[in-house]
Amino acid sequence: MKTILKATILSTLLTIASGAAHADAKNPKIGFSIDDLRVERWVRDRDFFSAAAEKLGAKVFVQSADASEQRQIAQIENLISRGVDVLVIVPYNATVLNNAIREAKKSNIKVISYDRLILNADIDAYISFDNAKVGEMQAESLVQLKPKGNYYLLGGAPTDNNAKMLREGQLKILQPLIDKGDIKVVGKQWVKDWSASEAMSIIENALTANNNKIDAIVASNDGTAGGAIQALASQKLSGKVVVSGQDADLAAVKRVIAGTQAMTVYKPLKLIATEAAKLAVQLVRNEKPVYNSQYDNGFKKVNTILLKPNPLTKANVNTLVDDGFYTKAQLSGN
Ligand code: BGC
Repeated sequence: MKTILKATILSTLLTIASGAAHADAKNPKIGFSIDDLRVERWVRDRDFFSAAAEKLGAKVFVQSADASEQRQIAQIENLISRGVDVLVIVPYNATVLNNAIREAKKSNIKVISYDRLILNADIDAYISFDNAKVGEMQAESLVQLKPKGNYYLLGGAPTDNNAKMLREGQLKILQPLIDKGDIKVVGKQWVKDWSASEAMSIIENALTANNNKIDAIVASNDGTAGGAIQALASQKLSGKVVVSGQDADLAAVKRVIAGTQAMTVYKPLKLIATEAAKLAVQLVRNEKPVYNSQYDNGFKKVNTILLKPNPLTKANVNTLVDDGFYTKAQLSGN
């Protein structure tokens, strides 16, 4: 009895000393705040994440901000007051979460930035696919198909730090060809909220402004690629103008098979979700996660787990079936 009491006091003291006074290391509570569950990929992230976290003994509370920064802040505050031990956040707007995160840290809640980096805030860790590399892959594929010509740069959401990293990667490949005069950038624009319909109207206008003389559209993800390809289709240009993407959304993979989208980038979502769940639980348990990179978010150098993306064209589309990302039937169905 005495020993048990001693052990209890000791473990309580240890918990307090480690700074996680209310953390339940055995069954951690995780708050998963996602920008927008209306977008295909995030639903898969949520499902893989919850399954992996539950296997590790954790309980997950999920919230979707549906592209509203006020809603996301309110939801994070709500998760804090529900007593979560760790917050995993896919930020809608990278720059507006400082206060909410300060509040979390005051309550000894760990904070992980998921897929997108939260800027200027005291976060504990970041996990993502290498976004600059994704950008390089997008530009590389298009350059192989159209080494010369008029390029349009269709960026992601200006509120998303990934959009900038993707652009950096794209320009790493394109800039030397622009300097050489082989490639001419005939226009560029960021797409608010990564909206497909906004991407469509941007490309409609760009086609009009350039008398349809566009050879390649560097679209930063599959949703915006879809919008761009719709605009191309109404000018009978789909399949002629090469378009990139990322996410391996089902509709995009079908376009890659049909030849209207040149490529997408496959990011195994089960991998990022599983690694993130492990990371979240490790942080609550004060275990040492293994990081392989660091990113400066303006506040500090953030410990980062960086995962490898895979370029996907018609030639290697079967990877998705082999990996269990889609079934054969899904890819051949209409
Ligand atoms: C993600 C992409 C996604 C986009 C829109 C980016 O931050 O990295 O995978 O398509 O957001 O949701």
